[in-house]
Amino acid sequence: MRVHELLDHWAHRFPDEIYVSDGDRSLTWNEMREWTHRVGNWLADALQPGDRFCMLDRNSLEMIALYFGASRAGVVPVPLNFRLAPQEWKYIVEDARCTLAVVHEDYEQALTSVVPGVTVSVMRDDTPSGLRFADDVVAYPADRIDRDVPAESVYHQMYTSGTTGKPKGAMVTHRAACTNAFQIQLALDANRKRTLCVMPLFHAGAALQIFAYTTGGCSIRVVRDFDRASVLRSMSELRIQLLTLAPAMIQDMVADPLTAELDFTGLDLMVYGSAPMAVEVLKKAMSLFGCDFAQAYGMTESCAVATILAPEDHHRALESNPRILMSAGRPVIGTALRVTAQDGSDVPVESVGEVLVRGPQLMSGCWALEDATRATLDGGWLRTGDAGYLDTEGFLYISDRVKDMIISGGENIYPREIEEVLFEMEGVADVAVVGVPSERWGESPIAIVVPDKDTDLTEQDVLDHCRAHLARFKRPVEVSFVESLPRSAVGKVLKRDLRAPYWRGLA
Ligand code: ATP
Ligand code: MG
Repeated sequence: MRVHELLDHWAHRFPDEIYVSDGDRSLTWNEMREWTHRVGNWLADALQPGDRFCMLDRNSLEMIALYFGASRAGVVPVPLNFRLAPQEWKYIVEDARCTLAVVHEDYEQALTSVVPGVTVSVMRDDTPSGLRFADDVVAYPADRIDRDVPAESVYHQMYTSGTTGKPKGAMVTHRAACTNAFQIQLALDANRKRTLCVMPLFHAGAALQIFAYTTGGCSIRVVRDFDRASVLRSMSELRIQLLTLAPAMIQDMVADPLTAELDFTGLDLMVYGSAPMAVEVLKKAMSLFGCDFAQAYGMTESCAVATILAPEDHHRALESNPRILMSAGRPVIGTALRVTAQDGSDVPVESVGEVLVRGPQLMSGCWALEDATRATLDGGWLRTGDAGYLDTEGFLYISDRVKDMIISGGENIYPREIEEVLFEMEGVADVAVVGVPSERWGESPIAIVVPDKDTDLTEQDVLDHCRAHLARFKRPVEVSFVESLPRSAVGKVLKRDLRAPYWRGLA
C-alpha cells in the first residue's frame, strides 16, 4: 500500500463530497485527487524516484496536495518547520540533498538566501483559482502517473524536532506510514467525522493525523495558524467532531474565558500529544469541553504514534483510578513496549528505565547517520530517549526525557514530577523545571514560572508549596518568574534554551 491510495479509496466512493477546506476554498475528494495527480506529474518530471525535495509553508491545502502528490511520484518530501531560522533550514536542505524546494512566497527570500543552488517553485497567494502552485505546476495534466512506487520505498524524510540536539532525518516507508494511519484511525474511531487540522503540517504527528483522517473518510478543515480565539470559534461554529491539539494549545484555551462561553456540543473527541500534558490542565479541559479525550504518544522515528490513552481510560480515571491521567496509554495495534536499564535488561513493572518501542510503524533508519541508526534501532526496537515505566496493566508512564533528567547528589529527578506539583498551585499559568550546576550536588532543579496575570504569587509561595509536596532533594533551589516560556511550534518547551545561560562555559 502507498500513501496516496488512502486518498483514492474515498475519492472513488464519494468523489463529490467535500474533503478539505481552508475556509476560503473547498475541494471535493475528486478535486483533491486530480490536484495530487497534477502535482505528482510535475514532481515526476522534475525528480528521479527517491529524490528528496523540501516543502515550506504554514498549514495549507497545497501542503496536503504535496504530501499525496509526492507519494504518486515516488519522491520524498522533506517538510521544513517554518519557525526555524534560515540557517537551520539550510542544514536540513543540505543534509537531505534536496535539489528542489516548494515554498510559500512568505519564505521565498529567506530560504533562497541560504540555499541559492536549489530550484525553487513558489506558491503565491494571488494565484487566480484552485491551488496556489506556480503556473507550470498548474499546467500539468491530472492524468494518472505511470510510476511504480514500492510499498517498501521511503515515503517521507521527516526531521525530528531538534529539541535535544541536531534534527535527525527519520526515513519512513509507505508501508510504515499507511500502517500508522490505520493504527491511529482505529484507535480514535476516526470515521466520517468533521475534523480540524490545527497542528503544523510539517510535524510528523500532524501529517499522520491527516493520513488517519483520510483513511477514515473524514472531512478536514485546515487552520493556517493557531489563533486561540478563532480556533475555538471554528470548533463551535463548524460543529467539529474530532481534532488534535498540542498540550500548550489546550492550556491556552483553558485560560481563556471564551471557552466557557461557547457551545461545543458537536465535539466528540479531543486528542492531545507531542509533549507532556499537565494533569491539572487536562482535568480543567475535560470539564470545560465536556467531550471525550485521548492522548497520543510517539515520535518522528515511530512515524508518529506508538501509544494512545483512550477515551475510556480517561473515564476510568475519573471514576476509580486517577493515576491513569498521568499515563500515555497503551500501545496501538501491532506495537509492543519494553522498559530497559542501561545494560539493556528489562526492568521490573513500576520501575523507571528507557522506553523502547517495536512495531510496523517504525522508521527504516536515520538518513546518513549510520551510527545513530544502529544506536536508536536496537535489534528492531526503537530507543525513544524517554524515561518511563509500565504498570501491571501495561499502561506506559512517561517520566521525562532521559536528557532532561536531573542528577542531584546521585538521585535521579524527573522535572515533569515537579512541574505537575507546581501546576497545582493557584496563580501558576505555566512552568518548566531544569537542572543547573551545583557545586555541592552536581546539579539542582530550578523552576521557571509564568504567573497568572492578576496574581501576587511570590518566590517564597512557590518554595513553600514545594516544601509541602516534594521530597527535599527534588525541591527547586531557585524560582524565577518570566512572561512566557520558549516553545516550539508544537508546544514543546525548549529546555536547552532555558538551561544554556546557567551552563555556559561549564558543560
Ligand atoms: P529531537 O529528537 O530532535 O531531540 P523531539 O524528540 O522533540 O526532538 P519529536 O519526534 O517531534 O522530536 O518528538 C518526540 C518526543 O516528544 C518524544 O520522544 C517525547 O519526549 C515527546 N512526546 C511526544 N508525545 C508525548 C506525550 N504524549 N507525552 C509526553 N511526551 C511526549
Ligand atoms: Mg526525539
